[in-house]
Amino acid sequence: MASHDLQEPLRAVAGFCSLLKNKYEGTLDERGRKYVDFAVDGAHRMQKLLLGLLEYSRVNTRPVQRLSADCNQLLSEAVENLRVSVEDSGAVVAHDPLPTIHADPTQIVQLLQNLVSNAIKYCYQDPPRIHVAARRDAHDWTFSVSDNGIGINPDHCERVFVIFQRLHTREAYDGTGIGLAICKRIVERHHGRIWVESAPGEGSTFFFTIPA
Ligand code: ADP
Repeated sequence: MASHDLQEPLRAVAGFCSLLKNKYEGTLDERGRKYVDFAVDGAHRMQKLLLGLLEYSRVNTRPVQRLSADCNQLLSEAVENLRVSVEDSGAVVAHDPLPTIHADPTQIVQLLQNLVSNAIKYCYQDPPRIHVAARRDAHDWTFSVSDNGIGINPDHCERVFVIFQRLHTREAYDGTGIGLAICKRIVERHHGRIWVESAPGEGSTFFFTIPA
């Protein structure tokens, strides 16, 4: 409720800052224009953070549906939702045959989408190559999402799942630090675990389990 209610006054701040910029740009000096730009940028960033927080809280407040969910289809949906960034980056998203699991389809799409979207974003070579696979043991399905991106220092592999923790500046890679915290919540709501194995420059593989 708090993040929902905060959106209203923030919309007013963002809206009036934009109006100020558009209407008075000609009468402001360079410094004045810069200040207004900072204010507009700050308000937009706050809006993004609030939307992220809302999404994060909704993972727990919405009842989890347990349906039979074909992960091949859910991955296609996730990739379709990312169509613009897939096309812009030329990313190649491949996958092994994936299982049908008992899970909340909307949340699994969100989980796969966050992981694939990060795999595209934290990339340094063309094209980003992403591979999704799943293997089964006695109790669980273990999914993996691998990329050929910048990788993560093993010392930081736990920190990335904590809300607002980022390893880069916004100038280097845009983001809010909420995506992986959402992934962790979704996996834990399904009684699974999530972790990453990586090394700098070696790509990353994110793993998560879902009880079979
Ligand atoms: P955001 O991408 O908005 O910063 P996330 O919670 O999704 O937030 O990710 C947290 C941090 O983990 C990122 O800032 C980045 O430093 C690191 N990270 C996430 N995914 C990857 C990846 N595939 N490769 C390298 N680093 C990653």
